[in-house]
Amino acid sequence: MIAPFSVLVMSTPVGPIGSGLGGGVETTLRALVRGLTARGHRVEVVAPAGSQSVGVPMHCVNGTPQASMQLLERSTVSTTDDGSVLTNMWTEISLLAEGFDVVLNLSYDELPFVRAVDVGRPVAHLVSMGSLTDAMDAAIDTTLRCSPASVAMHTRAQAETYARGAAATIVGGGIDFDTCRFAASPQADGRMAFVGRVSPEKGLVDAARACAIAGRPLHVWGLLQDPDEWARALGSMPEGALIHRGFVAPDVMRSQIGECAAIVMASKWVEAFGNVAVEAMACGLPVVSYRRGGPTEVVDDGETGFLVTPDDVAGLAEAIARVGTLSRRACHERAVERHSHGAFAQRVEAWLAGVLVGAVGTDFPA
Ligand code: UDP
Repeated sequence: MIAPFSVLVMSTPVGPIGSGLGGGVETTLRALVRGLTARGHRVEVVAPAGSQSVGVPMHCVNGTPQASMQLLERSTVSTTDDGSVLTNMWTEISLLAEGFDVVLNLSYDELPFVRAVDVGRPVAHLVSMGSLTDAMDAAIDTTLRCSPASVAMHTRAQAETYARGAAATIVGGGIDFDTCRFAASPQADGRMAFVGRVSPEKGLVDAARACAIAGRPLHVWGLLQDPDEWARALGSMPEGALIHRGFVAPDVMRSQIGECAAIVMASKWVEAFGNVAVEAMACGLPVVSYRRGGPTEVVDDGETGFLVTPDDVAGLAEAIARVGTLSRRACHERAVERHSHGAFAQRVEAWLAGVLVGAVGTDFPA
């Protein structure tokens, strides 16, 4: 039994909670707030102004949002000008940290790594993406060298994108299944689901091309981050076959996707985890995905989905044609067994407890 502790969570500075700009970080944050409070810990959140309540005290901060790192060049160094919400969130954390046992950083930016010592409390970093920029690689590498216990990642596939990733703690991910509606059978038209930001790294165009080959409609839930990507996807399918269902609250999406035969993931980058794979499985959808990143550790090939050679659109189409052979009930059960928010919170609790007994306020060497 781990004694209750208090956690100050730093959300992502790319957008307010509820905007969808934070992608899976919003899902991670909600799951951890719920799971850690249920385990008796005190949790408060620092987030950009305009964030939706997550049911615990929130400290909302004004400022210019950060650009999403996955849209930037490898050489980018993240900006921390006066007035940026990242800088302002970090200032707020430095002021509040004294009242907490540990700071849990969910932001993918150099600042919380390089300036962890500022806050006078241990800072635990849950890294939300695979390697994207040299500056982040360096910040994570140095932290893994000097304070390895303080870094966690979602999957081994994500950790392998960093030189010293093997030193990180792997905590997986977790979904609050209460809002996932299991559907024993899909709509008769064989429609497929794509759930995610419409942005090149998420691979909507490959998914659309594969569905066109397989003769299936494709329904899309997600933020239209890049209109050009949407236009390319539209051009890859027969008219009327690609339907945008909007960017909706997670519980709405989870109550709707059960109508689909399966979810298709054609990510061009290494998904750190791939929350949507678990959400879809919980609703009864098998996962058809490239064998790349987090989904390779979530999907059991031939049981809860099919893993296909990366970037092989014809292979994806062939797998889509076979999804009806998989048991939707098995997909649901596997998701619930392995990826509940409660189990995720327990793994994160164990990691944080380890960080708490480690060094406090380790300096960040040059
Ligand atoms: N999502 C949502 N509404 C939508 C589409 C997606 O709330 O209309 C959520 C979804 O529940 C998922 C998250 O967006 O948890 C995306 O997370 P994921 O880890 O799959 O991808 P990321 O955006 O972090 O790359």
